Amino acid sequence: MTDEKKSVDRYFASVRKSVTGVKAALIDMDGVLYDSMKNHTAAWYRMATELGIQCTRDEFYAYEGMTGAATINILFRRAYGRNATPNEVKELYGRKARYFIEMGEPQLMPGAADMLGILRDAGVTRVLVTGSGQRSILDRLDRDYPGIFEHDKRVTALNVSHGKPDPEPYLKGQQLAGCNACEAIVIENAPLGVLAGHRSGCFTVGITTGPIPEADMVASGADIVYRSMPEFAKRLPDLLNAFKL
Ligand code: MG
Repeated sequence: MTDEKKSVDRYFASVRKSVTGVKAALIDMDGVLYDSMKNHTAAWYRMATELGIQCTRDEFYAYEGMTGAATINILFRRAYGRNATPNEVKELYGRKARYFIEMGEPQLMPGAADMLGILRDAGVTRVLVTGSGQRSILDRLDRDYPGIFEHDKRVTALNVSHGKPDPEPYLKGQQLAGCNACEAIVIENAPLGVLAGHRSGCFTVGITTGPIPEADMVASGADIVYRSMPEFAKRLPDLLNAFKL
C-alpha cells in the first residue's frame, strides 16, 4: 500500500465519509506556485525595521498565509500595544508590497507547472486560494500558468474577511469549486495555511518548500507531507488514485 493510500484512508476514517474522487484542488500561491517567500520575508523585515520594530526575518515565514493586516497587527501590538489603524495598514502594506516588487519577479516554483498539468489532465478543478492581495503577483498568473485558474476560481485577500489560519478562504474555495470538503484537496506550504485547510475539512497536503520543518506541517494538521514540489508532482498520480474506490 502506498503512503498516499494510507494517508487517504486515515483521512476518510477520521471524517467518517466514504472515499470519492478528487473533484477540486485548492491551491495556495506563495511558496507553492512561486518561490517568493524569500522576497516576502525580506520585504516585511525591511518595512518593520524601518519603523524601529524589533523582529527577525525568519519570523515572517511563520506568519505566511495571514493577511497583510494581520501581520502588521502582530508587529504593532508588539511595538505599540495596539492594532494598526486601517490607514496605517494601507500605507505599510503598500510599502511592503513596493519593497517586494523592487526585488524583481520571483521565480516559478520548480515542479509547480507539472503538478498543475497533472491536475488539469485528470479533470480536477483548480482553485487559487491565497492570503495575498498583491496585484503584482496575482496579475502574473495568467502569463505564468496559462489556462490553469479561471477568473471566477480565485480566492485572495481581497475577498475574504478572515485570512488563514481561519478556514474561510478554503471554505470559499470549496464553494467556488462547487464541491464538499472531502472532494477537494488543499495544497499548502505554510503551517497556518495547512491549519486553515485542515479546519475547512479537506485532505491537506503540506509541502516544505522553505525552512519550515516537516513536523510543523504535521502538527498543523497536514494529512501528508512532501519535501519538495517536484516530489509532490511525482507522487500526485498516486494520491489521486488513492481517492478512487
Ligand atoms: Mg504559501
